[in-house]
Amino acid sequence: MPTLSQQNLSADAPRFQQALLDWYRVNRRKLPWRETPSLYKTVVSEFMCQQTQIKTVLPYFARWLDALPDFFALAAAPESQVLKLWEGLGYYSRARNLQRLAQALVALPAEPRTAEAWQELPGVGPYTAAAITSISFGTPVACVDGNVVRILTRLTADHTAFRDSATASRALAPLANAVINRAQPGDHNQAMMELGATVCHRQSPLCTICPVRAFCAAARRGDPETFPNLAAKKIERIATTRVWCWHEEKLLLHRAAAGSRRLAELCELPLAEHLGLDETALKKLPVVAVRSRGITRYAITETICSLKASASQRKACEKSAELTWVSRAELHELTLSGPHRRWINELLAKDSPG
Ligand code: SF4
Repeated sequence: MPTLSQQNLSADAPRFQQALLDWYRVNRRKLPWRETPSLYKTVVSEFMCQQTQIKTVLPYFARWLDALPDFFALAAAPESQVLKLWEGLGYYSRARNLQRLAQALVALPAEPRTAEAWQELPGVGPYTAAAITSISFGTPVACVDGNVVRILTRLTADHTAFRDSATASRALAPLANAVINRAQPGDHNQAMMELGATVCHRQSPLCTICPVRAFCAAARRGDPETFPNLAAKKIERIATTRVWCWHEEKLLLHRAAAGSRRLAELCELPLAEHLGLDETALKKLPVVAVRSRGITRYAITETICSLKASASQRKACEKSAELTWVSRAELHELTLSGPHRRWINELLAKDSPG
């Protein structure tokens, strides 16, 4: 049952859409996938922008388009090239899914044009399907993600308690679809994203310059930051120990197995347990760095200890299919996870291993 504010916004939809689109046409950021659009560029940009900021994506997008200019090139590329081009963007299943999607598309007689059909393809959820079909084919289906949830709950001062962002997105999809501009759904969806990214910030939204302020119940109440009412994420803290292990100018790396859920075939510094090092052994090793990172709901602290491996330790490691010794030159050829590439470069810059 829609609230009164939701009914008001739906009734005001034409004026709301116009105000939003007028603003978007003047204020939208110039992005390579917007300036000379194509289905391929839209798909690649949507995959890259999932959980990643646009400014981070831009250089990756340019390199990707140079190397793999269309679905056919992507479908035929070696997976190692695809992963290397993605190195540092994180969430590598996106890269694999993007290639599987290209392989599925080139096998079809024509590209599908509905959001439902796109959702049958690898790596495409409701949000991505809505973005691709509304932008590329003018399908009137709303994109609903954290940005849109934030804007809609503020516009309607909706204080419903949501368990998480996915639950809120599902609950707000009917309203998002009720207010979408059916004549220009692609621009409407992009305008909502742009508004969320540049004006309706999570904290300190720029209400005074907001193009849809006249429609915003939260701005009238003066408490926009209290929306949406999402349960606080439970952060789990994890501590791990990694080993900066060298033997005769070669660094030891761990390469995750091909079928691994995370980081399949990507290299990282090995964990202490990969080398069979227990707490007593670790205590004797000097700590060369302590680094923190966040992955989804995990806050991970990684302590990196230095070990000069003996010949017998090197031999023992060579028996493991997932451990590999690499020279400095080979390091550039391999695909590493983004943080580990950074940490290794930092350690190489300050250390003279061997
Ligand atoms: Fe967001 Fe403020 Fe605009 Fe409302 S008026 S949509 S809270 S930026």
